[in-house]
Amino acid sequence: RTGTAVITGASSGLGLATAKALAESGKWHVIMACRDYLKTARAARAAGMPKGSYTIVHLDLASLDSVRQFVNNVRQLDMPIDVVVCNAAVYQPTAKEPSFTADGFEMSVGVNHLGHFLLARELLEDLKASDYPSKRLIIVGSITGNTNTLAGNVPPKANLGDLRGLASGLNGAGSAAMIDGAEFDGAKAYKDSKVCNMLTMQEFHRRYHEETGITFASLYPGCIATTGLFREHIPLFRLLFPPFQKYITKGYVSEEEAGKRLAQVVSEPSLTKSGVYWSWNNNSASFENQLSEEASDTEKARKVWELSEKLVGLA
Ligand code: NDP
Repeated sequence: RTGTAVITGASSGLGLATAKALAESGKWHVIMACRDYLKTARAARAAGMPKGSYTIVHLDLASLDSVRQFVNNVRQLDMPIDVVVCNAAVYQPTAKEPSFTADGFEMSVGVNHLGHFLLARELLEDLKASDYPSKRLIIVGSITGNTNTLAGNVPPKANLGDLRGLASGLNGAGSAAMIDGAEFDGAKAYKDSKVCNMLTMQEFHRRYHEETGITFASLYPGCIATTGLFREHIPLFRLLFPPFQKYITKGYVSEEEAGKRLAQVVSEPSLTKSGVYWSWNNNSASFENQLSEEASDTEKARKVWELSEKLVGLA
């Protein structure tokens, strides 16, 4: 049968390109989980996604109520849920002050990590219930949160420290808008959130892979320098970043190619190994990449899991 994949943040960039690649394969129905219904409807039409190959369901990851509502709404659709892709993200590299989600969490970690954490935990039940032969939960990671790479060593580096900010709710009281309790830095908050994404994927793998057979994976699709992710960066950066990635670092990848890579992680029969962080080389062949020391710290993964459970009301 046709598989059904939920993709968050499918209104632009990587999420849209992945939704398109899956819809066009004819093997997938895509649930586009997005905060802006009209924008998503226009984007799907403009991308030429076949009619009937997708359903748009509202999801604002900056609100835990919206996440719960989304879960209720997709259950009403009466479709199985076979694959979940946590892709949406915000990046606020020029923000001087933190902004906050409806529940009072610093925005980058609130949306990229905590919103997805609740979503993934809730949809785990639906994945378990699906009879699809290869069920997967995929969380999009990033090289920037990975300090064992060149790109991951550009300051400010990701560092979750002793998690004191997360433990006190990331609500900006005192110095607690950052996971490590340090002063607010928007670029670092994004990288920290990506480390949480990669830790979460591994903790899911350790807790649930054997029992459920679900594949838990993360990936770095390459530097997609043209997406909306960089919308809040200064204009000069936005002008120079794509050619810099294309000609200097050679890490550049088009949205279309990156979408094909993520679509592979969703559906390729050869990519069923669980607990893996996928990357691609210049010839677009996938390989199992190494995570940084912090992103593969099992003790930290457990602590982030437990603190996150408390913050999203699961414990
Ligand atoms: P885009 O900005 O193009 O896409 C981000 C998506 O997230 C948009 O659909 C956006 O919705 C959505 N989103 C943002 N906030 C929320 C929210 N509160 N609730 C629901 N959806 C939300 O960026 P990319 O396509 O580049 O990013 C996709 C993923 O790829 C991210 O996880 C990013 O970290 C990762 N990534 C990107 C790289 C790159 O070089 N671009 C490299 C490595 C990883 P809306 O359209 O409404 O704004």
